[in-house]
Amino acid sequence: AESQVRQMQKMEAIGQLSGGLAHDLNNMLSIIIGSLNVIERRIAKGSTDVTRYIGAALEGAQRAATLTQRLLAFARQQPLAPQVVDVNRFVSDLSDLLRRSLTEAVQMEIVLGGGVWKTSIDVNQLESALLNLTVNARDAMPEGGRLTIETANTSLDPDYAARHPGVPAGQYVLISVTDSGTGMSPETISRAFDPFFTTKAVGRGTGLGLSQVYGFVRQSKGHVKIYSEPGQGTTIKLYLPRFYGSEQEMKDQTKDNTAIPA
Ligand code: ADP
Repeated sequence: AESQVRQMQKMEAIGQLSGGLAHDLNNMLSIIIGSLNVIERRIAKGSTDVTRYIGAALEGAQRAATLTQRLLAFARQQPLAPQVVDVNRFVSDLSDLLRRSLTEAVQMEIVLGGGVWKTSIDVNQLESALLNLTVNARDAMPEGGRLTIETANTSLDPDYAARHPGVPAGQYVLISVTDSGTGMSPETISRAFDPFFTTKAVGRGTGLGLSQVYGFVRQSKGHVKIYSEPGQGTTIKLYLPRFYGSEQEMKDQTKDNTAIPA
């Protein structure tokens, strides 16, 4: 529980950090736009005295580029520390934390499939991913609604497998997060995993939540899929590769807390 609180604080810190960076970025864009406006006006009047403003625009653009590169490096650069976990136990252990990240008006339901399914995963990053999905679900249900988290043992959806011939259709542990919120347009779905893509008000969304989820799940050799329609709510499915090691391996691993490499 203590590590969960720490993780929550870390998430908040990351949120504030990227909010601050977005603000800096916005300031730099204002400088660039302002300088270009001056250049445009001066040239329209036949003046060629614009060198200073070109310099200012270039400097602003350079600083903005450095900033986004740093932020992207920060977002990508978290090496995985995989650990073997029982997915059902992981989800039920996390349920209190997820519940606390929702509003009162949202009902949360957890439906654990029957079975012990293990996956080798970075639990801190999985925690972040599920928190990101829960917070997105909360934001999509301002008037309240229903959040369902389900687990299952599955192959990839047949339709998805058919459209992605290179993807092995092996056994996965599925965690799906379903909300009864606003849903997403096809355009939003197509951009949702892009870093910095957000439809939320300035200061509310960073556009980094789903890109974290995507990066982490792909790095873990899993798959993420969005099912959503405007007005119909959203389901995000995380397919995590199933780990077939022995129970004993898992117990030893939990006991001394040494990560088994994926
Ligand atoms: P952020 O939440 O900061 O906007 P994300 O990367 O987590 O960044 O999400 C990107 C966008 O995807 C959101 O701004 C929103 O438009 C859309 N989105 C994500 N999750 C949901 C959801 N559960 N319901 C509706 N739209 C969603």
